[in-house]
Amino acid sequence: MILYNSLTRTKDEFKTYEPGKVKMYTCGPTVYHFAHIGNLRTYIMEDVLEKYFRYSGYDVKRVMNITDVGHLSSDADTGEDKMLKGAKREHKTVMEIAKYYTDAFFEDCKKLNIKIPDVIEPATACIDDFIKVISGLIDKGYAYLAGGNVYFDTSKLKNYYIFNNFDEENLEVGVRDGVEADSNKKNKNDFVLWFTKSKFEDQALKWDSPWGVGYPGWHIECSCISMKHLGDRIDIHCGGIDNAFPHHTNEVAQSQAYLGHEWCPQWFHVHHLNTNSGKMSKSKGEFLTVSLLESKGYDPLAYRFFCLQSHYRKSLVFSYENLDNASGAFKKLIAKIALLKNEGAVDTEKFAEYKTKFVEALDNDLNTSLAVTAVYDVLKADTNDVTKKALIEDFDRVLSLDLTRPRKKENDQPVADVELASYIEEQIKLRAEAKKSKKYAEADRIRSELSEKGITLIDTPQGTKYTLDLTYEKDRRN
Ligand code: AMP
Ligand code: ZN
Repeated sequence: MILYNSLTRTKDEFKTYEPGKVKMYTCGPTVYHFAHIGNLRTYIMEDVLEKYFRYSGYDVKRVMNITDVGHLSSDADTGEDKMLKGAKREHKTVMEIAKYYTDAFFEDCKKLNIKIPDVIEPATACIDDFIKVISGLIDKGYAYLAGGNVYFDTSKLKNYYIFNNFDEENLEVGVRDGVEADSNKKNKNDFVLWFTKSKFEDQALKWDSPWGVGYPGWHIECSCISMKHLGDRIDIHCGGIDNAFPHHTNEVAQSQAYLGHEWCPQWFHVHHLNTNSGKMSKSKGEFLTVSLLESKGYDPLAYRFFCLQSHYRKSLVFSYENLDNASGAFKKLIAKIALLKNEGAVDTEKFAEYKTKFVEALDNDLNTSLAVTAVYDVLKADTNDVTKKALIEDFDRVLSLDLTRPRKKENDQPVADVELASYIEEQIKLRAEAKKSKKYAEADRIRSELSEKGITLIDTPQGTKYTLDLTYEKDRRN
């Protein structure tokens, strides 16, 4: 598989340290508010990557942190603590906020068919690990104490800006960003490993440490949580493009300084979802969530489909018009797939031919838009329905769009597949004939037999209609 690597800035052959095994780390959410659909674009694309690794035969261990402490309003260690801001906004404790929004995040993931990573670790559960690594960095001369805080000394590194060629001029503007510089820092980009003093209101959660009662910086948590669960070397690290600097740059600085060797050779960054007015952000007015889309009648999987239609390394513009187009196309696709019949046997040659197209698309820097095109190609293919269905089910192990699941109609009624619909129509006809010839017991028997299968008949002036209960789906098939 060829994957763009932000570290080398080229498309590289994906490699792993141990054959057949992928150690994958992904930066998790800061749980002070709901995730917006921009954040979720990143998690959707990471989910596709993970599932494609598994589809390709790798044994994957994926770790994600939950930031429930230490992330300040500016990524450059200044401003108010985000968790404290959330707690104040909702008159709750920081831990109540963390629990509520962690649960909300995983509910969103479930709706979008994003698999839960193998390990989820909240930062507050790893304080001892942070203290161990920070102590190690001080011992090795990479960190210093100033004004009550512990800082990483970026001047000790030969190459700090690993992802970009930021010149000092540009950075000065970026880091200043309307906030006063921290006069404790020896170098502009030094960052806090452990806070005991902040000129902003203190973090509510604090722990004892060799440097005084305080709390960890944001960057140290990802390095330590990764080392705790994946060891000294990982194969791939993922996150949104905004994390490349300073977050991932600082993660690499401290991890490699501590370990004394290369830590992660491959970096996968997902570009942003923007609105017409710019980058989507929680502090701005337009705060789009999955629940908001649902309340407007969109299927969350239509949003996943919308994301898959574009490449992860291009920024994507969200508008309701764009989502409507994707949602319409998604509904049509599902309806076409629902018409596939279950007759015949899988044509293995055709199966292999079309699977190759799908694999080629994803092998080429995770081209999900071509992978979706591969589904359309299958529908047009010169082969039987069973082969088409088998291929689409196979692709859906990665796409996770529930392409072959029976769907509810617009009026919220589940749609019967073709076979089931013709069976029900036949039974309705037999029941009407029984009633006509006054065989009421027979008519009742047909009604109750259908009812046992979750099919409810409703007699209307326009004829007999029916509703389906999806929880009976399995029984009906048996
Ligand atoms: P946060 O909860 O702020 O730590 O962000 C969670 C993830 O979402 C990180 O990987 C960010 O890089 C990513 N992210 C933030 N904003 C966007 C956006 N507009 N589009 C895509 N990903 C984003
Ligand atoms: Zn991180």
